[in-house]
Amino acid sequence: MDHFIYKDGELCAESITVRDIAREVGTPFYLYSTATLLRHYRLMDEALAGTRHLICYSVKAASNQAILMTLAAEGAGMDVVSVGEYLRAVTAGVSPQKIVFSGVGKMIEEMRLVLSGGIRQFNVESESELDDLSALAVDMKTVVPISIRVNPDVDALTHAKISTGKSENKFGVPISRVRQVYAYAATLPSLKVVGIDVHIGSQLTNLEPFALAYRKIAELVKALREDGHDISRLDLGGGLGIPYSRSNEVPPLPMEYGALIKREVGHLGCEIEIEPGRVIVGNAALLVSRVISIKSGESRQFLILDAAMNDLVRPAMYDSWHDIISVVEPSADSQETVYDVVGPVCETGDTFARHRWLPYLKPDDLVAFRGAGAYGAVMASEYNSRRLIPEVLVKDDQFAVIRPRPTYDEMINRDTLPSWL
Ligand SMILES: *Cc1c(COP(=O)(O)O)cnc(C)c1O
Repeated sequence: MDHFIYKDGELCAESITVRDIAREVGTPFYLYSTATLLRHYRLMDEALAGTRHLICYSVKAASNQAILMTLAAEGAGMDVVSVGEYLRAVTAGVSPQKIVFSGVGKMIEEMRLVLSGGIRQFNVESESELDDLSALAVDMKTVVPISIRVNPDVDALTHAKISTGKSENKFGVPISRVRQVYAYAATLPSLKVVGIDVHIGSQLTNLEPFALAYRKIAELVKALREDGHDISRLDLGGGLGIPYSRSNEVPPLPMEYGALIKREVGHLGCEIEIEPGRVIVGNAALLVSRVISIKSGESRQFLILDAAMNDLVRPAMYDSWHDIISVVEPSADSQETVYDVVGPVCETGDTFARHRWLPYLKPDDLVAFRGAGAYGAVMASEYNSRRLIPEVLVKDDQFAVIRPRPTYDEMINRDTLPSWL
């Protein structure tokens, strides 16, 4: 459920019409709803009620400072995968004791900066990372809490590009070797094993892969404890999917996911960490765009928007579906027509939807992509020298631009010239 609904024939974000915001901000832009963000965060929190737990929001899903601060004020921890994200979280006021550092290729300089700022735990992905981290911690006279990311070889049943828990994926230590790697970690100075980490993929719409993975983790906890390791935390990753279309996807509810966690690992006495990204922010934003023109091709009509693949790359990258709706509510008896919905970028991949039934639209009409909050603004680029689009946050009847649209000069003047030109 979200807070983007029609009132009196107009699409609203909480208590403001999308049209009013568009008039002030200009299109295209991302539009986040505070109430929706909070609702999703609280649902995840309630799903784990009765367990000792920390929700570490996955910063890479949407990393604007205003979003991080909104979640931090609720008590959220954060999962970061780079120093840039770490600094974003700290700057937003998140205590380093609530930040976990994940990522398959951490660099020494990143590790150093994070260690000097403080961290809840490193989620370590390999023996060589253990070596680097231990040497650095000795050098810095500190002790680093670590979990080792396990690759459980479970098929997440999601898009291949966002599947991370199969043995052929680059992530984690193969489950067959993980006891050896823990034994090795225990021999290294200045590392303190605190737990196990797993993250099998994103946009999971079925609970079974989570159940398979967490069952393997539970067995592993027993084995590692027998080996003498102190396993007191389980980082169960993120990945819970969201409905992108009201018709064809019915992901599990947070409550069902929470019940599964309690069932599979609740008896182990560990503190639970989860790293949800998409499920918190995905349906908490729209991408609002304007129709530039409508062009008739040989066999189809192209709806050409002012938003493009550089603003929202998910359809081009993952063949993903976003519901596209008119900002003016279609009347009950209004006719629909079929469009290929495209942007102005010079790539055929710049296609948001093929053969999509939508109300009749005309130039200057506004449309909104639903479910644009996760992996939207953060993946944007300036391809075709299109400026990064603004992010806007609504709260009740107020809104604020939380990242302005740069001017063309600002974009161009970031380039610097060599002395010979
Ligand atoms: C991307 C990522 C997440 C978040 O995944 P969602 O599908 O957005 O919930 C969590 N943990 C790690 C390690 C990730 O890489």
